[in-house]
Amino acid sequence: MNATAREFRELYGYPPEGVWAAPGRVNLIGEHTDYNDGFVLPFALPQRTEAAAARRGDGLLRLHSADAPSGVVSLDIAALDPAHPPPGAASWAAYPAGVVWALRDAGLPVGGGADLHVRSDVPTGAGLSSSAALEVAVGLALADLYGLALTRPELAALARRAENAYVGVPCGVMDQTASACATDGHALHLDTRSLEQRHIPFDCAAAGLRLLVIDTRVKHALADGAYARRRSSCHEAAAVLGVPALRDLPYEELEQALAGLADPLHRKRVRHVVTENERVVRIVELLRSGAFREAGPLLTEGHASLRDDYEVSCPELDLAVAAANAAGAYGSRMTGGGFGGSALALIDADAEPEVARAVTGAFRGAGHAPPRITTAAPSAGAARLR
Ligand code: ADP
Ligand code: MG
Repeated sequence: MNATAREFRELYGYPPEGVWAAPGRVNLIGEHTDYNDGFVLPFALPQRTEAAAARRGDGLLRLHSADAPSGVVSLDIAALDPAHPPPGAASWAAYPAGVVWALRDAGLPVGGGADLHVRSDVPTGAGLSSSAALEVAVGLALADLYGLALTRPELAALARRAENAYVGVPCGVMDQTASACATDGHALHLDTRSLEQRHIPFDCAAAGLRLLVIDTRVKHALADGAYARRRSSCHEAAAVLGVPALRDLPYEELEQALAGLADPLHRKRVRHVVTENERVVRIVELLRSGAFREAGPLLTEGHASLRDDYEVSCPELDLAVAAANAAGAYGSRMTGGGFGGSALALIDADAEPEVARAVTGAFRGAGHAPPRITTAAPSAGAARLR
């Protein structure tokens, strides 16, 4: 019995029926492209959220997290309502409760209820998608326990619906898809319009490479409003250009499209989205040919585009990228929505101590709190553990 299962037994007084796990993710490239119907290229982290679970028969949902101070949150499944998510210290429970609500709303029977206990080593709020890991772990547990016929992409879509409609976060489908569908040693090339998936071999370790994840541990307050404004800027620009989404602008026609935009802010946002989509395509080609190191400069180019054209970086992220690159990284970029969270650096495996030291030193020199630095390799998606 693993630690999560043991804790479940101590908490509820009987053993769970099983333990399920779902990973956090890092997006290698393709930032702010998802709401433009574009491409993303995330991979699953080795860090994951485990959910120990058992069915009940009385329609009650009991939720507990080793990582939240709320104690057990008890909810009546029949009464779950997006207009009244769990308040205060229990607000984290909106993520798993939202998944149950989304399953119920899709006509999938989970009405008997469940006891759940989760624990995670995905840092929360670091841009590594602990929220999707939590949703997907819980969704997979319930789908297995109740014998629901759900494909992985369907599970991802339900988890996203939980976050959009129940928790109230307007995220795209990347995080949940990466957590539910990624495979070990691969990045996941996802077309966010068609939802077509391609698993791209990206075995860093075998190539003598490593990915450094630098969690700046800052989250600047302007993130939410800025995200909404970026989104509407893109949709406005697409309307001016007469395309359904910015994804429909071919890279080759970028200059022409920019000339057709009067608003300089629209021009910057469009340039980021179109060049970023192109970077995804190019990096996929490089990975397919095994030229992993050559992806580095495109990562750094992507960072500059997010910093200068999309204006979603921050001093801590810029410093992480500059310091990692100066210490020998092949390339680096902020990853996730921005204004804090994590940066990613592609490095030689044996350069890890040196690059980590350089980044930490740069943060100290600038008077920033020390970053949390871990290494990641593309790992497996969600699975049942036992
Ligand atoms: P990210 O997904 O980048 O980590 P989010 O703000 O989207 O950041 O999600 C973080 C939130 O998800 C936390 O504040 C918490 O409410 C919830 N959460 C994630 N993992 C856990 C966990 N293991 N236990 C309890 N709540 C969690
Ligand atoms: Mg999240």
